[in-house]
Amino acid sequence: MPRHIYTEDHDAFRASVRTFIGRTVRPRAAEMIADHTIPRGIWREAGRQGLFGLCIPTEFGGAGADDYRFNAVLAEEEAAFAQALASCFGIHADVCPPYVVALGTPQQQRRWLPGMAAGELICALAMTEPSGGSDLAALRTTAARDGGGWVINGSKTFITNGHQCDLAIVAARTDESKGARGITLFVLEAGTPGFTKGAPLDKVGQDEADTCELFFDDVHVGDEQRLGPEGGGFVAMMQHLTQERIGSAITNLAQCSAILRETLDYVKDRRAFGQPIGSFQANRFTLAELVTAVDVAQAYVDDCVLAHASGRLSAVDAAKAKWWTAQVQNDTLDACLQLWGGYGYMNEYRVARAWRDARVTRIWAGSNEIMKEIIGRDLGLDERGRA
Ligand SMILES: Cc1cc2nc3c(=O)[nH]c(=O)nc-3n(C[C@H](O)[C@H](O)[C@H](O)COP(=O)(O)OP(=O)(O)OC[C@H]3O[C@@H](n4cnc5c(N)ncnc54)[C@H](O)[C@@H]3O)c2cc1C
Repeated sequence: MPRHIYTEDHDAFRASVRTFIGRTVRPRAAEMIADHTIPRGIWREAGRQGLFGLCIPTEFGGAGADDYRFNAVLAEEEAAFAQALASCFGIHADVCPPYVVALGTPQQQRRWLPGMAAGELICALAMTEPSGGSDLAALRTTAARDGGGWVINGSKTFITNGHQCDLAIVAARTDESKGARGITLFVLEAGTPGFTKGAPLDKVGQDEADTCELFFDDVHVGDEQRLGPEGGGFVAMMQHLTQERIGSAITNLAQCSAILRETLDYVKDRRAFGQPIGSFQANRFTLAELVTAVDVAQAYVDDCVLAHASGRLSAVDAAKAKWWTAQVQNDTLDACLQLWGGYGYMNEYRVARAWRDARVTRIWAGSNEIMKEIIGRDLGLDERGRA
């Protein structure tokens, strides 16, 4: 089904992203998967190509593009063609910069944004803790007043870009008595005494991502590393999670659409019982269902992209896009893998890795259950809401 949300400018940007991925990323995909890391040179090259600074103002080395559709194009191309970027660029380019742009002081913006845009300062967002990720308001990492600054203690886990990060935006509790309103954000720089990183975690998929634990053991930082107002961390995370979730939805669909297209080619060639396996009615019906699910979801996500580009996307609509596309993606990839037969189970084939990579999309950035909680709460069904 033709899509209508992009202009010639977006198409030109898409072509440049695809060229970058084809020349710089894909030839090294196997190496990145084996090493669980994206080489620094690739980060810098992406920075030089202008992929990391879309929302960063031009005075700090970004593009200052006030149009989320460019971010969407980047997310689609990475998911469909890179074959090995996991969510690393997405977290660095689409998730972290908006925090510094929206909440940073002019000094903080001068200190960090140019390096982020250039791909020199790799960025992570550290919210989840070993004790839990869904219930963010219950996080246990603390930041206590220490003269004019702060001393941070605690740990985070499952942090994308964690092992390589130069900067980590860390959510910490600054007031035990205030629940969600007692959480504040800080920017921690790698190398700060007491800030250490675990080894990349052994995951089911997303092999190339250096997801790891972060540890804070009496980390002293000045007040100039507090990002946004004291006690404003939870609200900031909730506001910015809307973009993270629509970004996830875009990626979910782009990744499974690409594999579905590859599968459609495969089933036309692969033969059994004297005919292409795609020509069996059972498989035609399966493929018809998959194409329908992806196309219908794409129309909703495109609408969300337009809404977000004009500042109208609600947290509830983003939650719908995130969980639904995660489900469509997982269902689609499982069916595609089946159609590839034994080859589909071989890591050498993209469909196998895509299937493994996709499992996490129902968990991260707010699980499907948490998305349904957000949507359900908006329906006015809560007993307390009627009291
Ligand atoms: C590969 C990977 C990368 C990640 N990257 C990052 C990152 O960069 N930064 C970061 O901060 N975090 C990151 N995460 C963490 C991720 O966001 C969390 O795993 C997620 O939010 C779930 O938290 P949890 O794992 O602690 O599960 P829990 O919160 O312990 O939840 C366990 C299960 O209980 C369910 N559950 C919880 N509450 C409810 C409820 N109210 N109703 C019904 N069911 C419920 C959940 O849906 C889930 O199925 C990453 C995770 C992975 C696996």
